[in-house]
Amino acid sequence: MFKKILIANRGEIALRIQRACRELGIKAVMVYSEADREAKYIKLADESVCIGPAASAKSYLNMPAIISAAEVTDAEAIHPGYGFLSENADFAERVEKSGFKFIGPSPESIRIMGDKVSAKQTMIKAGVPCVPGSEGALPDEPAIIKRTAKQVGYPVIIKAAGGGGGRGMRVVHTEAALLHAVQTTKAEAAAAFGNPEVYMEKFLQNPRHIEIQILADQYKNAVWLGERDCSMQRRHQKIIEEAPAPGIPRKLIEKIGERCVAAVKKIGYRGAGTFEFLFENGEFYFIEMNTRVQVEHPVTEWITGIDIVRTQIMVAAGEKLPFMQRDIQLRGHSIECRINAEDPYKFIPSPGRITTWHTPGGPGVRVDSHIYANYVVPSNYDSMIGKIIVHGDTREQALARMRTALAETVVEGINTNIPLHRELMVDAKFMDGGTNIHYLEEWLSKRER
Ligand code: ADP
Repeated sequence: MFKKILIANRGEIALRIQRACRELGIKAVMVYSEADREAKYIKLADESVCIGPAASAKSYLNMPAIISAAEVTDAEAIHPGYGFLSENADFAERVEKSGFKFIGPSPESIRIMGDKVSAKQTMIKAGVPCVPGSEGALPDEPAIIKRTAKQVGYPVIIKAAGGGGGRGMRVVHTEAALLHAVQTTKAEAAAAFGNPEVYMEKFLQNPRHIEIQILADQYKNAVWLGERDCSMQRRHQKIIEEAPAPGIPRKLIEKIGERCVAAVKKIGYRGAGTFEFLFENGEFYFIEMNTRVQVEHPVTEWITGIDIVRTQIMVAAGEKLPFMQRDIQLRGHSIECRINAEDPYKFIPSPGRITTWHTPGGPGVRVDSHIYANYVVPSNYDSMIGKIIVHGDTREQALARMRTALAETVVEGINTNIPLHRELMVDAKFMDGGTNIHYLEEWLSKRER
């Protein structure tokens, strides 16, 4: 096992990884930007290194600075968390070339899955069902683009091959709007992701977002850890996640879970990963694979009893998966609410000093957050400041626990989306379960203040 790991991230996930290190008796090195200098989780680490100014490009995305920090502290491995460099194949490669272990899949796996066009082609070959669409990237010829759209059937969605974080997508309803949409998406993709390639998919009208968590070691052992329902989204960003997904027959989920495991073995994937699907009319359609730990991993940890971050570290150190598929038993129901520093009505980011921070507790409540009273939320990064996760024997019990947890939570000094979560936890449709990916936005457009 490693003696020392460098954590190349910030905020709640940096603290989450630090906790896993402690449990495994591994020393944790934190890197931080000038904006995070005062954060308590930095002071909790065994060692810490400042890697640059507040701007991500100069700190959390600064590969040479992070690798030097690993060198000066004699770390053996680097955990990238999520976001930042976690899905950057060049970074994974540089980490390994510098003699460190990258806690994640191989650079090749990241590269294949990071390009949504090659990811889709790989999945089709591995027998994972995908959304109907263009075969690979769209060519330049207007006639071919129009023909493809006609075959796929309107509405279609134009997506950037290098896209991520809900950006680089455009829905097209008519042929008249098609070519312009393709051009604009291409230009945006070139500017935002450095890759102008786009592809086309059928735009599914009312799907749910269901994803499968997998874990694999380097000896081709792989398991799937059930599914998560992440359909509650605003602007393609998840805000509530739960496991299991309400109302989907287990047989259907098992079939897709087994397909994912088969694909993982086929491509020789190592580490934690998530297959994201849209689910409509009883069918699953693969949209992308995330080659890292996800924000919503705790709901899976809670229903399976498996520590995903700990397992990531163990398999990166060359250990075998300590469990097989038949050991994976799902228990109860878990729900996560992402707490964002933002206006709960207008969603404008709300950085600044937190004056009061009172967190919930009690049976079946977990809070993953790096926040404390007097902490200043920097304006430089993502607005998520933590997650409240609950577990219950049933979905009803989990919902009740989340309501209580949200009622106990007090955050003052900044705005958060907690009032929004409180409203959603008593919404009749959400309580029924099985809302689709458009539900939250439709609900917001009708919301009364
Ligand atoms: P990203 O990597 O940016 O998260 P995804 O491919 O995972 O992009 O898509 C993000 C979200 O966009 C999905 O959860 C879904 O809400 C919507 N979406 C993507 N593809 C389609 C599609 N073919 N039909 C309908 N909605 C889609």
